[in-house]
Amino acid sequence: MQSLRLRAIYNLSANPFNFDIEGSTKITEIFNANVFTLKTARAFLSNEAYKSLLASIRSGSKIDRKMGDQIASGLKSWSEKKGVTHFTHWFQPLTGATAEKHDSFFTIKSDGTAIEEFDGAALIQQEPDASSFPSGGLRATFEARGYTAWDPSSPPFIMEIGQGKTLCIPTIFVSYTGESLDAKTPLLKALVALDKAAVDVCQYFDKNVTEVIATLGWEQEYFVVDAGIATARPDLVMTGRTVFGHAPAKGQQLEDHYFGSIPERVYAFMRDYEAEGYKLGIPLRTRHNEVAPSQFECAPIFEPVNLAVDHNTLLMDVMTRVAKRHGLMVLLHEKPFAGINGSGKHNNWSMATNTGVNLLSPGKTPKSNLMFLAFFVNTIKAVHDYADLLRASIATAGNDHRLGANEAPPAIISIFIGKYLTDVLNQIEKRVGGKFDEHDEAILKLDIHKSIPELMLDNTDRNRTSPFAFTGNKFEFRAVGSSANCAAAMTVLNTIMADTLSKFKHDVDALIEKNEKKEIAIMQVIQRYIVESKSVLFEGDGYSPEWEKEAKKRGLPNVKTTPLALDAFVTAKAKKLFEHNKIYSHSELEARHEIMLENYVKKVQIEARVMGDLATNHILPSAVKYQNMLIENIRGLKETGLDESAYSSQLQIVKKISEHVNKMSKKVQEMIEARKVANEITDTREKAISYCDTVKVFFDEIRYEVDKLELLVDDKIWELPKYREILFLR
Ligand code: ADP
Ligand code: MG
Repeated sequence: MQSLRLRAIYNLSANPFNFDIEGSTKITEIFNANVFTLKTARAFLSNEAYKSLLASIRSGSKIDRKMGDQIASGLKSWSEKKGVTHFTHWFQPLTGATAEKHDSFFTIKSDGTAIEEFDGAALIQQEPDASSFPSGGLRATFEARGYTAWDPSSPPFIMEIGQGKTLCIPTIFVSYTGESLDAKTPLLKALVALDKAAVDVCQYFDKNVTEVIATLGWEQEYFVVDAGIATARPDLVMTGRTVFGHAPAKGQQLEDHYFGSIPERVYAFMRDYEAEGYKLGIPLRTRHNEVAPSQFECAPIFEPVNLAVDHNTLLMDVMTRVAKRHGLMVLLHEKPFAGINGSGKHNNWSMATNTGVNLLSPGKTPKSNLMFLAFFVNTIKAVHDYADLLRASIATAGNDHRLGANEAPPAIISIFIGKYLTDVLNQIEKRVGGKFDEHDEAILKLDIHKSIPELMLDNTDRNRTSPFAFTGNKFEFRAVGSSANCAAAMTVLNTIMADTLSKFKHDVDALIEKNEKKEIAIMQVIQRYIVESKSVLFEGDGYSPEWEKEAKKRGLPNVKTTPLALDAFVTAKAKKLFEHNKIYSHSELEARHEIMLENYVKKVQIEARVMGDLATNHILPSAVKYQNMLIENIRGLKETGLDESAYSSQLQIVKKISEHVNKMSKKVQEMIEARKVANEITDTREKAISYCDTVKVFFDEIRYEVDKLELLVDDKIWELPKYREILFLR
């Protein structure tokens, strides 16, 4: 029988694909079609209920039972009109995916009548059976209770899967005692903290600022491969990445994929998932090829962080499902293929005021320039002071493959701000003794507004190697992994910013109390912060070995593996930060730490098992089969009386196969032994370190032998689709 691999390749050319998807609709016609927007709410709710919903969204005020019933009823009529039969509380547990538990509106009353029902209680709070979601020990399994609570700040939406339509209510997920068990709860708290701290600082400049909203525009990188071919790779199916595979003759060296035309089949898939995304209110705007073959990127228009996070998790889900319709598979893993670029998810971040000002956009007047400078320098200080936490916020087993691999930002967190702003900061820093005065042309009237946008348009001033870069009117956190929930990075970034801004206010106020003029006080604190945090600024090549040395000299943290990077979450400093800003209690933080370590262990464990399995059950049999063919051939040649020169090549290969097979099997055995030892360890941190240092170290070694075998064994016998097939056939 033909192998799965060969059949998949055959099917590719045998079954022509249908690229005809829905004719091009105007985006505005479908945008938000499946979202319970405020406009829809206005049409389906009573005046009273609408106002109550609005107040809850704007100021977080509580919705009482009566209003809850009314809103639920409006939601039900809207969704039934659209053919919805079920609803679910939609949440983001710490497993890294989204979770749903569908209930139908259908119910039977005590008198036996069947009706469709959805009331305030069902809208506001639910109790999924939460015992199997990770809780890091917060919720002992015997009291398997956690509940989901409606988050009115993210609008309900209808998810269409085939003909099935489900009303999804975005919720947070907390334990009965109030501890957060999801990605969203701490994020929402961090955004509240940032709002307050940023408004306080804005008040120095503009009394009309009463609200500051953090904004996020993510850029999602991903690979798309043929599903048939991918299915013949158990490693892709189980782990999202290829654990084996020799580099193809052609990789990304030609860079012909980047910004080339999008392959037709992928293009149809993109248009399809984009249409689904638009209906769900995801404001997608750009799509293009990425550097590696079969790698692509999409990015939306930025939104408030909370919404942007929901939209990103939703889109990852939508992409995965829509791909199936096209016989494709989306790979969101950070490093699906060795030897070619991995995938990231740049997080473009800024802050916007209710008065319509982007706080990281250089101003037009000296006053607004000063406000920009204050927020700009506070960001630098926050990143400097808490670089270890930012690093920890993006630490996962998948991302470890990418960070520092000379394609993605290094594990050293540094900030790139460009030449012009470096000069500006230098000028301020050099002012001896913080002597600024009101007529300080040089400083307060810096030509920031005009110069920066121009400079930033120049691509040479964008430094792609920096993990945290200023790009004209926002910072771009580039070290986030492609499969990550942005909430993790955004919770940390907004918390450290909130914390730094409130210290800033405290410091400025202290000077004002000493009768310093406001602007001068602000400049003095800015100057001090520049001095204190300038070691995090770096304009050079972040991939170079010199930078690693230099960073070490500067005392910047450079933690390369997840188990150790995660330590930053449980330092005294981190505990104080998160508790003080009301994001995490100590026990919540410890629980998170535990969950992240567990995730790491599980990921590495699964990869190790898949590797062992493939080596033993796929690679070895193929290698032996080919070896036997050669032996048969050699025997035949011998029988004809030919001397060794007639079969010397065959003999060579037979020997080489034995060598590689033996080494491979030996290493697999050693890896299994190492796993057994690691599994005995009860302390999760120690266990994670053990998996990292004693199990994972075998991955490259085993892979080396397997990839050598791939080059030796008869192509027809090799069962796993090869890189050239996965990456170039579609
Ligand atoms: P590129 O980085 O490729 O040059 P853009 O500068 O247009 O592309 O923006 C990249 C991403 O940054 C987009 O998702 C965009 O929405 C987002 N972005 C732009 N302005 C902001 C902002 N003020 N806050 C957050 N994200 C933003
Ligand atoms: Mg970008």
